[in-house]
Amino acid sequence: MSVNYAYYPYYLSFDEIPVPNFCTTRHGGVSIWPYHSSNLSFNTEDNPENIRKNRIIISERLGIPVDKFIYLNQIHTDKIYYAKIFHCGKALEMPCIDGDGLFTDEKGICLVVMLADCVGVFVYDPEKNVIGVCHSGWRGCLLNVCGKLVENIVENFGSDKGNLIAGISPSICKNCYTVGCDIVQKFPDSYSPYVFQNKNMWHIDLKGIITRQLNEKGIRNENILNLDICTYENTHIFYSYRAEKDTGRFIFGIYLPE
Ligand SMILES: [Zn+2]
Repeated sequence: MSVNYAYYPYYLSFDEIPVPNFCTTRHGGVSIWPYHSSNLSFNTEDNPENIRKNRIIISERLGIPVDKFIYLNQIHTDKIYYAKIFHCGKALEMPCIDGDGLFTDEKGICLVVMLADCVGVFVYDPEKNVIGVCHSGWRGCLLNVCGKLVENIVENFGSDKGNLIAGISPSICKNCYTVGCDIVQKFPDSYSPYVFQNKNMWHIDLKGIITRQLNEKGIRNENILNLDICTYENTHIFYSYRAEKDTGRFIFGIYLPE
C-alpha cells in the first residue's frame, strides 16, 4: 500500500485506486480555536460561515466541485442510502439526510463521512465503477454498518466481492480507545478478540472489528487499505473528540468522476 503525501498537510490519499479518494486534515481552513482550522461539520459550535468557507476551500484543493459532495447528518446508525445526483448541491447547508452510509454508481458524486476518532470506510468496485462510504464508531461496529454497506453494493450492482477494495481512515487506536463496562457488555462474545482489558481499563479495537466485518463480507486483506494513524495521538494533524472534546471534523471520501 502506498499513501500519497503530495498534498499534505491538506489531505492524504491512496495511490492504488484510480478514482479520487482523500482524507482531509485540520489544516488549511479559516476556523479559529478550538476548531482550527479546516472544520467541515455543521454539527459543532463553530461559525457556520467558516464551515461553508472550509468546504469550498477543500473542494478547490481536491479539484472536486463543492456541488458534487454529499454530506450526511451522522447519527451512529446502520442507515445506508443509494446516493443520486439529486442529493448533490447541498454541501453548504446543514445536511438533511440522517444516516451513516452512502453508495452510488452515478458519476459526478463525491461521498464523504465526517470524523474525529470514529472510523471512516470507503468501498470501491473497479469493475462496476461503484463507490460507497460509511461511518462507524462502537455503535456502528455493533450494527455492522460496514458489512451492510458491502451487502448493499453487492445486492444492487452484482459486484464480485473478490474485486472490492476498501479504505480505512485514521481513527482512535485500540490502545487509546478506553470505554466503560456498560459499552463492553453490549458486545457479544464473538467480539472478544477486539474487546480487551489492559491496566484495569477496557479497550475496543474499532479497526480490528471493521477489518473482520469487511473480511466476513468477502473483502480480502490485501484489498483493504489502511491509513493507520491514531487521531487521539495526532491532534496536530487530525481532530480527536476524545482528546479535545470541543473540536472539528475532517472528512474521508471518494469520488466517481464524470
Ligand atoms: Zn492511539
